Amino acid sequence: MSAFGSRAEDLDRDDPLADFREAFALPEGVIYLDGNSLGPPPLAALEDLNEAAHEAWGQGLVRSWNTAGWIDAPTRLGDRLAGLIGADPGEVIVADSTSVNLFKLLVAALQARPERTVVLSEPGDFPTDLYMAQGAVRTLGGGRRLDLREPEDLEAALGPDTAVLLLGHVHYKSGRVRDMAGLTARAQAAGALVLWDLSHSGGVLPVELNACNVDLAVGCTYKYLSGGPGAPAYLFVAKRHQDSLISPLGGWMGHAQPFAFEDGYAPAEGIRRFACGTPPILSLTGLEAGAALALRAGPARLAAKARALGDLFIEVIEAGPAAAALSLASPRDSGERGGQVSFRHPQAYAIVQALIARGVIGDFRAPDICRFGFSPLFLSFAEVEAAAEMLGEVVAERVYEDPAYSVRTAVT
Ligand SMILES: *Cc1c(COP(=O)(O)O)cnc(C)c1O
Repeated sequence: MSAFGSRAEDLDRDDPLADFREAFALPEGVIYLDGNSLGPPPLAALEDLNEAAHEAWGQGLVRSWNTAGWIDAPTRLGDRLAGLIGADPGEVIVADSTSVNLFKLLVAALQARPERTVVLSEPGDFPTDLYMAQGAVRTLGGGRRLDLREPEDLEAALGPDTAVLLLGHVHYKSGRVRDMAGLTARAQAAGALVLWDLSHSGGVLPVELNACNVDLAVGCTYKYLSGGPGAPAYLFVAKRHQDSLISPLGGWMGHAQPFAFEDGYAPAEGIRRFACGTPPILSLTGLEAGAALALRAGPARLAAKARALGDLFIEVIEAGPAAAALSLASPRDSGERGGQVSFRHPQAYAIVQALIARGVIGDFRAPDICRFGFSPLFLSFAEVEAAAEMLGEVVAERVYEDPAYSVRTAVT
């Protein structure tokens, strides 16, 4: 066995999260390095979904809104996720998609700062965040605009026009972690509100929303939290803002009394006002188990293992035959990284396809990024070591030159 192989064995032996692997349904013969895009199903989620479909839906029918706890699922799950992101109960709700939640909070924040016109963000942040910001300023008009500044210029751009600073906590391509406490404080000192997207940090890194005095946040549940494809997202509004912000999509589920069926909209007290329509109960059901597993493991242990897996991966690549061909696109210092590691290569797409054909599933991000996610709940160090050896081989032996690996699919 190689030196790396025996090191991986040692690391697996000492891994405090090793037992969580058994909680997941994963196919044989696959090393899954894409849990940061779509987390695999927890076995308990499959049981919960089966039960929700056959019993609560099939037998309980409409009664289940009351008897199976359906109506409270968005806030019940929100309270649970609050424990993962440093929020208090009553500050988080699970509803809609991350995109829709971005729109709700951006419009609400812009309307709360009517004398200010700018949403500040950075170029190359996750596209939907930028698109929703463009939609929010277009919808409100009045000279409002999205201003994109490179990371090193952001702070200088904060000023009397800045209404909202919108940023991803962990960058989806590079995995770089932003200084949440520092940027939040500086934006607030300029009079702006701050909206963080936690899609690549919630469930894998410690997030301290209230300790950092964050105003607003959103995040995705189908990545590290294994909520299932298209599972609804979460939305955080700090208690101090809940009475003054109004959702532009105030539907009946965000009304003070949904079942009074009144003609006029009156926002509910607290976080529930940020709900819009009927909650997607089956999708919410799929999230219960993943959220419970992440809470049981705890963000500190999750982050430590994700970063150690990433370190091992980088080390094996850089000691191997593809070291010169692949360039690291993520911070080398794991403290500055989330749960993923990316490498650049001009043939990144074909490399990822060749790896998938060999059972190592990562993903490609245009134009030249091979991205690998190190979900700490189900991956072993041995798998990560084997995947890195495989990547080295595919690149060094130019396996990716087979034309079959250049056929483009809709989802990369
Ligand atoms: C995955 C992800 C999203 C997903 O948005 P959807 O509305 O669920 O498609 C949004 N923002 C970031 C930063 C993401 O990584």
